[in-house]
Amino acid sequence: SNRCVTAADILKELEEKCATPVSKLRQISDAMTVEMHAGLASEGGSKLKMLISYVDNLPTGDEQGVFYALDLGGTNFRVLRVQLTGKSSIECQEFAEVTIPPPLMVGDSQALFDYIAAELAKFVADESEKFQLLAGRTRELGFTFSFPVMQLSIDSGTLIRWTKGFSIEEMVGKDVVQELAKAMKRQGVNMRVSALVNDTVGTLAGGRYSNKDVAVAVILGTGSNAAYVERAQAIPKWHGPHPKSGEMVINMEWGNFRSSHLPITEYDNSLDADSLNPGEQIFEKMISGMYLGEILRRVLLKMAEKAALFGDTVPPKLKTQFILRTPEMSAMHHDTTPDLKVVASKLKDVLEISDTSLSTRKIVVEVCNVMATRGARLAAAGILGILKKTGRDTVRDGEIPNTVIAMDGGLYEHYTEYRHCVEHTLNELLGDEVGKQVKLTHSNDGSGIGAALLAASHSQYA
Ligand code: ADP
Ligand code: MG
Repeated sequence: SNRCVTAADILKELEEKCATPVSKLRQISDAMTVEMHAGLASEGGSKLKMLISYVDNLPTGDEQGVFYALDLGGTNFRVLRVQLTGKSSIECQEFAEVTIPPPLMVGDSQALFDYIAAELAKFVADESEKFQLLAGRTRELGFTFSFPVMQLSIDSGTLIRWTKGFSIEEMVGKDVVQELAKAMKRQGVNMRVSALVNDTVGTLAGGRYSNKDVAVAVILGTGSNAAYVERAQAIPKWHGPHPKSGEMVINMEWGNFRSSHLPITEYDNSLDADSLNPGEQIFEKMISGMYLGEILRRVLLKMAEKAALFGDTVPPKLKTQFILRTPEMSAMHHDTTPDLKVVASKLKDVLEISDTSLSTRKIVVEVCNVMATRGARLAAAGILGILKKTGRDTVRDGEIPNTVIAMDGGLYEHYTEYRHCVEHTLNELLGDEVGKQVKLTHSNDGSGIGAALLAASHSQYA
């Protein structure tokens, strides 16, 4: 290895390349706003698809009865049922969570949907008396499907493309509700899919149910995306009937955002080139949970190869893609022990690197910090872009509107440093006066509950 370069040099260069001063974040949020306009103006007008969700009314609280949801998002999928009182509350709820076997993510659609439907069948079979389906009714389901879908109606839509490590080519262009319905039939589940929703749209609906000021939802999980309430008149590409509410929820698919202002490094470029979807989801690849640990691995590999960070030989495990996951990165980043014991044990357990010095461990933590900080600050810039587009970043008619942003996803939920950095950066960007009126709330499992609520408000019996 070339000892002329030290790990500290590589770290310093990384910090420079990943810098996100407020001026840069403003350029990025402005670019986000511009792309939002373009995506709303015409189909294919922007990298941001700005998909019309067909949700023109968010839950009111009047929804009543038992409803199911199925949430297929990335790593896990969840099934849940809720009993709604009709008075803005949930009487009871139950859920089950299953990990998707990785081969199913790249196999064929029938196998994937049969697996999901079979889990749903087991869950439905377990329904207790606490849940009251009215006599003569068919159970109804909201399907949260967190991939880009061209909706044709509230309960149908075709897959535009896969993201987040899924790749089942023959599924692209197919109606995902029909595929689910066919699998449900094969598995003997008698249920109607009443709403097809993106997880961001579900989170928005779930958030709005408990707080009227919720106007934006952001997911920071395996992937990343956002949805918000737009004025129907501000959607030139919408030629359907004008919704009574005058509003329409837009699923931005912001993961595919890209701008020359983004602080892209050699590590991002190589990650993208090696990914299942090169050139796509560039924003998502810089900020979301599927990729942060992988970027960290790539930086550490360079430090090992060029500066012998882990000794004279490069640890072989460090060459395995996706071996270092974001939860491990998060654990190392949050290590508060004086000798960084957690870092030492993660390096050993995950990468089979033992006997690291304290200074080496400190460098590892610093790389975690650089990558998480960049991701979180970029996410905050994205949120500012939405607030700008909707006029919520400033005084309007003499006052500043209250805005609540419903946040969800395992990254936001569990990676405390990341979450705090999103919150802090958004405040920094908005300033004290506006910042006080804008709140982020963690909408736990909002996407699943939201889908059940949307199934209720779009019930065939409603
Ligand atoms: P999905 O996005 O697949 O629907 P989640 O919202 O549960 O699912 O997010 C799961 C993702 O959250 C994981 O892929 C991982 O990247 C991230 N994550 C989970 N736990 C942690 C953690 N402790 N620290 C950091 N990131 C985490
Ligand atoms: Mg999810």
